[in-house]
Amino acid sequence: MSKKVLVLGEVREGSLRNVSFEAIAAAKKVSGNGEVVGVLIGDAVANLAGELIKYGADRVVTVEHPHLKQYTSDGFSQAFMAVADQEQPEAIVFGHTALGKDLSPKLASKLQSGLVSDVTDIEGADASALFIRPIYSGKAFEKVQVKEGLVFVTVRPNNIAPLAKDESRTGDISSISVDITNLRTIIKEVVRKSTEGVDLSEAKVVVAGGRGVKSEEGFEPLKELANVLGGAIGASRGACDADYCDYSLQIGQTGKVVTPDLYIAAGISGAIQHLAGMSNSKVIVAINKDPEASIFKVADYGIVGDLFEVIPMLTEEFKKL
Ligand code: FAD
Repeated sequence: MSKKVLVLGEVREGSLRNVSFEAIAAAKKVSGNGEVVGVLIGDAVANLAGELIKYGADRVVTVEHPHLKQYTSDGFSQAFMAVADQEQPEAIVFGHTALGKDLSPKLASKLQSGLVSDVTDIEGADASALFIRPIYSGKAFEKVQVKEGLVFVTVRPNNIAPLAKDESRTGDISSISVDITNLRTIIKEVVRKSTEGVDLSEAKVVVAGGRGVKSEEGFEPLKELANVLGGAIGASRGACDADYCDYSLQIGQTGKVVTPDLYIAAGISGAIQHLAGMSNSKVIVAINKDPEASIFKVADYGIVGDLFEVIPMLTEEFKKL
């Protein structure tokens, strides 16, 4: 049985986040041969609708309002509910991002549906789709099938490959006018910490440092390697707690969850709480001077050595490629 699926296109600073395209690919599977409808919510977002269609959405519905310029769960849930009322979807797919994690349970409750969160893969299609999600901090995976009712899933960034962009695809773009009222919060201004380089949660390469980097300056060789590889810098909580870097870089159970193609862990012991945030990375390289460090148990490649010697050597070698 084919399904009509709504997919939220997540916008950050005027651009669609990659996870939106991954969510469309997931929605295609869930829909069988049904319709995939992109949803864009914001202040001025309609210009991004064509991009969702090129990545596989059949059409796009937009909701624009000045109060939707910044995300608030109140505002976005009013907007999304208006689209859901109009479209009557059989499935909904969001990215498992900060926004997706905040908004999806609220909507699932309003729509009286269950929620399969943090999905990393989908086997099968439409009614027989099996959603695969990590449990116990990534130590095991469970397969979930939704037997009846609305199928609501969030997909972990960097796990489900987006469809190839097709410049020739076209589709209908319509808008719904919603009077966004009774907001308990209105965000007047967002002051962002200046972050350099690639977005950590969507990076294909992450170079992460732990307490073993020993100081803020100790991150410099890691930054150089990340630059050469076009990657992002991450950290263990040990490094954040020691004030070597900002908590926005923390990876793990209480930090960000990343699934890059390559994860380089330098001076990180491999505590279970750290592994929860990175053990699904495709290739893990660990550099640690302690051969007994737990990180080596999850590493595909392990280098026993001093990170301050190993990292510059790696950087020089990668520069030659
Ligand atoms: P350490 O465990 O101190 O390890 C440092 C490593 O560096 C050692 O293995 C050492 O051999 C190596 N080293 C030292 N010098 C060098 C050198 N020159 N070259 C190479 N190697 C070197 N942690 C997280 O990371 N993320 C989380 O989200 C998180 N959430 C938590 C939630 C809870 C509720 C709790 C209780 C803990 C959480 N933690 C988390 C903390 C976690 O338990 C560990 O304490 C933390 O991950 C340790 O960080 P680390 O590996 O950098 O430091």
